[in-house]
Amino acid sequence: MTFHSRIQDTAVFQRRESEARGYCRSFDIVFKSASGSTMVREDGRSYIDFLAGCASLNYGHSDPDMKAALIKHIEEDGLAQGLDLFTTSKRAFLRTFERLILEPRDLDYKIQFCGPTGTNAVEAAMKLARKVTKRTNIIAFTNGYHGVSLGALAATGNKKNRMGPEQPRGGVSRAPFDGYYGEGIDTAMMLEKMLSDPSSGIDEPAAILLECVQGEGGLNAASAEWVQKIARIAKKHGALLIVDEIQTGCGRTGTFFSFEALGIVPDLVTLSKSISGFGLPMALLLIKPEFDIWKPAEHNGTFRGNNHAFVTARVAIEKFWSDESFMGDIAVRAALVNTRLRDIQAIVPGSKLKGRGMMQGIDVGTGELAEEICQKCFAEGLIVETSGAHHQVIKILAALTIPMEQLAKGLDIIEAAAREVVTTETETVAA
Ligand code: PMP
Repeated sequence: MTFHSRIQDTAVFQRRESEARGYCRSFDIVFKSASGSTMVREDGRSYIDFLAGCASLNYGHSDPDMKAALIKHIEEDGLAQGLDLFTTSKRAFLRTFERLILEPRDLDYKIQFCGPTGTNAVEAAMKLARKVTKRTNIIAFTNGYHGVSLGALAATGNKKNRMGPEQPRGGVSRAPFDGYYGEGIDTAMMLEKMLSDPSSGIDEPAAILLECVQGEGGLNAASAEWVQKIARIAKKHGALLIVDEIQTGCGRTGTFFSFEALGIVPDLVTLSKSISGFGLPMALLLIKPEFDIWKPAEHNGTFRGNNHAFVTARVAIEKFWSDESFMGDIAVRAALVNTRLRDIQAIVPGSKLKGRGMMQGIDVGTGELAEEICQKCFAEGLIVETSGAHHQVIKILAALTIPMEQLAKGLDIIEAAAREVVTTETETVAA
């Protein structure tokens, strides 16, 4: 029994919740409430949240405007679940998304409402690309993460999630992401060579699937040049370009979509996590109109009509994306994270900065060191997680709305923890 589980009653979780549980193993306390970037456990101790529901709470917990709209909707007996029926709240969401997200960016997409999680959108994208091209192979990248249902799992690189050979994971070829072999090695050219050679052993692709910043894979940020090359390669070889914006989307990297800043327009875009704004399950597939060739109800699902999510999603977009000011707020916060991470980099020998926007972190070299720093942070009242192939990257996913002082305080905690851990290690080596 750990220290935290002694002071909090977690017995039923240990007894009954499946071994599949994950995050709660790192943060083994019972949370009772949360607002903004503060999470509160049962005995009243509060924590700064640098996890933000793994980027599903970009606007923080319990946003007052979303909450008020949702309570009003419920009080008026607004639909909770609507299958894919036309409803007032779905119409309002679609109009808002069209007016404030698509039109200002000159984007023309049809919107498919998928089952509620990100992985559902990835599955839909893979299926649709195969249907459009009549090809099977999907190219996915090293360290990519796209979900854990079997189709999406095939595209996921993470060894732990991919599990053993008993899980069928066919139909995906792996290619090296930008920077995989170090600086100066053009991995886009490598892919082009493989696809141009009829005897390379790679089947003609239905799609190329990528994250512009790899969230679970260690915050690897692709350059604009690389992403543009991949877009050209997809076009040349008759493959659809799918950009997975599930973690990068809704402002996480500084703009609403991460691809906006990189000069490409994908054929298909997956969006989930923060799209509802309030942490309610919702996932979308954006489809260039010419590829929207689904037959009626060909790809369906019961829970595609989370009307509570449509209500809060509309409010989130109206509140944060009506003009460009929110992007300025994100940039200010991202600059602070970057400056403070540089200070931490100077403390941890050999460490590297990773990511972009409010999706930055620091690679401290080993998973053990990253985990030790994160556990010290937790003891000091900060929730922050690791990512990367060896969990070696401390990943800062604070809400985009976090007050500057709270952001600075959380970063102070990481710096102090890093200093303490590195000093202890140096002393141990010297002794
Ligand atoms: N794609 C990306 C880029 C993700 O980060 C995730 C979740 N971490 C998924 C897909 C899967 O989303 P979900 O867990 O909601 O199924």
